This record gives sequence, C-alpha cells and structure tokens, in this order.
Amino acid sequence: MAERDWVVWMSTKFPLEIPATLGLTVYCPESGAAAAAGRGQGEELCWAAEGLGYARDLCSYVRMGMAMAHSSRSGGLPRPDALLCCSNICSGMVQWYEAMARTLDIPLFLVDFPYAQEGGEEVTAYVGGQLRAAIRGLEELTGRRWEEDTFDQVCRQANRCADAWQQVLDTARRRPAPLGSMEVFDYMPQMVTGRCRRETEEQLLALARRLEQRAPLPLERARFRVYWEGTPCWPVLGEVLPMLEERGIQVVADTISQSLSFRYENLDGLIQAYCSTINGVSLETGLEQRLAVCRRYGVDGVLVHYNRSCRPWCGSLQEVERRLGQALGVPVAAFSGDQGEAAAFVRAQFATRLDALVEQMEGRRETTLG
Ligand code: SF4
Repeated sequence: MAERDWVVWMSTKFPLEIPATLGLTVYCPESGAAAAAGRGQGEELCWAAEGLGYARDLCSYVRMGMAMAHSSRSGGLPRPDALLCCSNICSGMVQWYEAMARTLDIPLFLVDFPYAQEGGEEVTAYVGGQLRAAIRGLEELTGRRWEEDTFDQVCRQANRCADAWQQVLDTARRRPAPLGSMEVFDYMPQMVTGRCRRETEEQLLALARRLEQRAPLPLERARFRVYWEGTPCWPVLGEVLPMLEERGIQVVADTISQSLSFRYENLDGLIQAYCSTINGVSLETGLEQRLAVCRRYGVDGVLVHYNRSCRPWCGSLQEVERRLGQALGVPVAAFSGDQGEAAAFVRAQFATRLDALVEQMEGRRETTLG
C-alpha cells in the first residue's frame, strides 16, 4: 500500500529543508493569502475572519490565514497534519500559528529565533537544539526517518535554486530591464515552498534564459529604475502597475524577492541564513542589505510602501527611508496601502507621490548630467 501523504503548513521563513528532507508536502499560508489578495478575495477573507472574532487591526495575512484555516475543514487549502512556524519574521505570526493549531486541532512545531541576533555560536546552538527537537517530533508524527544524506542533498539543491533565483533577479541589471515591474513576484512562491526541488531550479534557469532573450521594455516605459521597499499592495496592483508605467517608472528590485537568494554551507550556516530575515535583523544590518541591493541594480529612486498590516516592518521604516535616501543620494517617496485590503490604498495620494518622485529623479538626472 502506498504511504500516505503528510501535509504541513509552514511560515515563509521556516527552514524548508526540514520538511523537504522528510518528504512532507508543504503549503505556505502567507503565499496563499497573497495569492487570494491578488485575486481580489482579500476583503472577503478578512471579513470572514472578523466574523470569527479576529480583530480588524490584526495583520490582514493573519485574518486571511485564519479564514483559510477554518475553510480547510470544508474543502479550501488541503488540511494540514501539522504546522511549522518560527519567530524570525514577526511575533504576531507565532500567535497566528497557535490559533491555527487550536482551530485545526493539530500539532504546532515552533522554533524561536532571537531578535536581531545575526551571529554567534550561542544563537546557533539555541536554534539548532530547537530544530533537532522539531525533527524528532516530525519523525514521531509521520513515522519517517531523518537521513543526513538526504538532508545534505536537499541543502545542496536549495543552494542551486538560490543561484538560479539570483540569475532571474539579475536579468534586471540590464538597462532597460526585461522584467516588468513586480513580475518577479509571480515566481516567488516557487522559492518559498519549492526551493529544495530540482524542478524549481530547472524552471528558474529556463525563466532566466527566456528573460535574457526577451526584448527590453520600450524606453518611455523604463525611464527610471526604482527599488520597491515593502510587501506589494496585492489587491490594487492592477491600478498601481499602469500608474508606474505611465510615468516611465520600472521597479527593478525589491526587498522580499532579494531576501530569497541566500546560500549556506552547513547547518550552522543554514541557521545564520534563517536568522537574517528582513524583519529579524538589526536596523544597521537591514540597511546594509538594502543598500547593497540598490547599488547592485543601479536605482534612480526608492518607493516605500507603508503596508498598514505589517507593523514590525513599518516600525523602523521612516528611519530606513531617511538613511537610504541619504546614503544613496536618490529621492525617496512613500505611500500608504495594505497587502490584503484595497481600502487602505488611496489612488490620489499614490499619484501625487509618484509625480513628486519623478520630478526629483528628473532633477537629479539633469544635475548629474550637467
Ligand atoms: S505582521 Fe508582517 S511579518 Fe507578521 S504576519 Fe503580518 S505581514 Fe507577516
């Protein structure tokens, strides 16, 4: 008789290498929430969660995830056998997964990552001990055995996928870049739950080749190269993209997609890599990461999305905004929105901020060219 499929739901930056080594089927509720928001279902799911008693001021991914957890009992996302979560993105996520574990009545494997601790043997030992406990718990739950050889192969594959992902991202170094603004996000879920699979590497390499051969965007649509800070405002991307295009703004890099091309050599390196998430590192380290990306892609300006849902991210954003502009010497514009709810986005504000950004980028270009 064929062995049953074991399904887990996992937070975005849980080390995928662990369920992948055990051959578990992985879904990511945040990717599911982002996709639902992009399809225009964000409001409906948020209302459903509010009807279940979840407060409106919670992150929209949390509310949508709770609504999905309830609907998985009646045929939504495949019902999981266990949940995997870690605190390297935000503490709210921990409570979200605890609530899903109660709702679904399944085990939760939780790994605590110390905040803003990007290095050190103590951190590696602390996180490593918890990962080993999670592995033992998953072995007991599934009856599957942990094999070090399989883990090594899975890690090597994850690194190869990271290289392929970087090749895709780096096609945007071309001027003009062949990738449309935010297009790279279409492929990001593959890196979240598929980074340990050979098919993902092959698909990404094929994508990089297609992009290399793709005709560049017409110059009038790519006059300015911009770095996007923050999660995309999924529900209104249909409005946002033409507004960027009309003004000749091309998003060539962003915070999230760049954060997925990390590599490592061994288990300690893996732990360090998962410690270094955008929200999990210190302000200084986060700034260095962003500056390196902005310089690599040669941006003319920065566009900052104050995503109402994500307070851990937005808390330090004003300082990030100020210091990025100062260090790069490029204009920075900010606007308000949300990753899940269209109502938080104000079209008129966005248009005004974009116009101001374009004016400043033009001014800077004229000054630089003399
Ligand atoms: S608050 Fe931010 S980091 Fe936390 S779950 Fe929501 S979007 Fe993710």
